[in-house]
Amino acid sequence: SELLRVENLHVSVGGKELLHGINLTVNKGEVHVIMGVNGAGKSTLLHAIMGNPVYKITEGHIYFEGQEITGLSVDKRAKLGIFLSFQNPISVAGITMENFIRTAKTTISGKQQRLFPFKRLMKARMEDLSMDPSYADRYLNDGFSGGERKKSEILQMRILDPKLAMLDETDSGLDVDAVRIVSKNISEYHNENNSLLIITHLNQILKFITPEFVHVLIDGRIVKEGGPELVDEIETNGFDAYRSEV
Ligand code: ADP
Ligand code: MG
Ligand code: MG
Repeated sequence: SELLRVENLHVSVGGKELLHGINLTVNKGEVHVIMGVNGAGKSTLLHAIMGNPVYKITEGHIYFEGQEITGLSVDKRAKLGIFLSFQNPISVAGITMENFIRTAKTTISGKQQRLFPFKRLMKARMEDLSMDPSYADRYLNDGFSGGERKKSEILQMRILDPKLAMLDETDSGLDVDAVRIVSKNISEYHNENNSLLIITHLNQILKFITPEFVHVLIDGRIVKEGGPELVDEIETNGFDAYRSEV
């Protein structure tokens, strides 16, 4: 059944239109990948789906489980089960990673997260990610390496357990071991009731997770759609072949 439907989405930042009518449907259980050159509008699309107010929707609609969410706040979308892992995760001084994730889980699930069960859950999930348990008590992403920040995003995803997980270049800046670990965690999260929308440049992650659908985004438009064979096609030929279709 349908989880996300994006209809004729136009998005502007500072009066400049970045997306010019995106259509995209993601059903439950599906893995979709968005590929495209730098500056194509990939991150913009994910921010608009998440409800980041910087990205103004000037035309079109977004539906989640059949409900229109085009005008909803980020918080409300998160409660509905939408998650965005940022391309460049920010650090938050003064709040530990454990408190940050526990507060988010409480808010999103609407259920109090009892301290000790939550600590056990964190510890188990951090072990899955080969993260040292001491990181739970460090300020969120503060002094974390690029790879550790990406892992902390995946940790949040696994604990929040969203219906739709959007991952923006989660494989960038990871060494081969970390890519393997992060991919394994994404696979363990994924089941027939949730969906993934993945942006990747390096295709690293796609060695471990096979998408059913690939969308090529150029200059704010989806110019090509297909199955996983598109990933290899792009790896071989680059994006130039699709430019002429713009
Ligand atoms: P991609 O993720 O495909 O590399 P982005 O969605 O980040 O591309 O950006 C698309 C275009 O929109 C780029 O030209 C970028 O500079 C511009 N852009 C994105 N976000 C902002 C912003 N917050 N303010 C101004 N320009 C932006
Ligand atoms: Mg983008
Ligand atoms: Mg981007």
